[in-house]
Amino acid sequence: MTEPLNTLSQSSLQDYQDCPRRFELRYLQRLAYPAIETEPALENEKHQREGEYFHRLAQQHLIGIPAEQVGRLANTENLRRWWSNFLDLRGLAQRPAGKDLGSLYPEITLSAPLGKFRLVAKYDLIAIDRDRATIFDWKTYRRRPKNEWLHVRWQTRVYRALLAQAGAHLNGGKSFAPEQIEMIYWFADFPADPASFPYKADQFKRDWDALTRIAGEMAAGLSYPKTDEVSKCSYCPYRSYCNRGVRAGDAADAELETEAEELFDVNFEQIGEIAF
Ligand code: SF4
Repeated sequence: MTEPLNTLSQSSLQDYQDCPRRFELRYLQRLAYPAIETEPALENEKHQREGEYFHRLAQQHLIGIPAEQVGRLANTENLRRWWSNFLDLRGLAQRPAGKDLGSLYPEITLSAPLGKFRLVAKYDLIAIDRDRATIFDWKTYRRRPKNEWLHVRWQTRVYRALLAQAGAHLNGGKSFAPEQIEMIYWFADFPADPASFPYKADQFKRDWDALTRIAGEMAAGLSYPKTDEVSKCSYCPYRSYCNRGVRAGDAADAELETEAEELFDVNFEQIGEIAF
């Protein structure tokens, strides 16, 4: 049985593009989305939890908690390395030495109507420096993905488009022109090699047109076929529903292809007690 869907996110759009059937199972039928089955399973689960925890540490520092205090919570080898790399954040994006990132909006949510839905995105950080807006997204991937792959991901398209569409309140009431927007993926394990995506008016038009068309398709809800690309099934938690094989995929591939919806429910009061 399907239930009405009210919001769309980069994750649901990506699922719809990768496999309409996965979108249907996850967002319409709301079947539990268990930890992605990969090998080695435990190691992968630990890495995912560390990634979520790292996002918490970054957010706490960006809202003003001193680095030394937050850094004490980096209690695993991965977290210590990521945290140390993160402290060089202000040297990111080839900014001239000493130039600040501007006003910081960590973990800000933007939304806008899209057909019968609301399009929603939660950003790790938006930095506004005069009339320039830079979107930062932290990634704890084990592999540095190619820029071509990132460029076509719905996250890259949605985050920039939504800031252009719904970010006027961050710019004195005036919408950002697409040319004022840039998105940077910063990789905690590859800190010197961020991926940067500027934006242009024609890209914004293309993205918003595509979003509008897909929202219309989803509202019509005619069919949700299984993907023809069976490689996408090897790390999909719904394999048993689809008769698409039993062997678990490689964890490093899985984390690129099936990122979990943002998991920001960690209670920071208890964060020091999380064991890995
Ligand atoms: S197992 Fe394959 S066909 Fe089934 S939902 Fe997952 S990706 Fe789609």
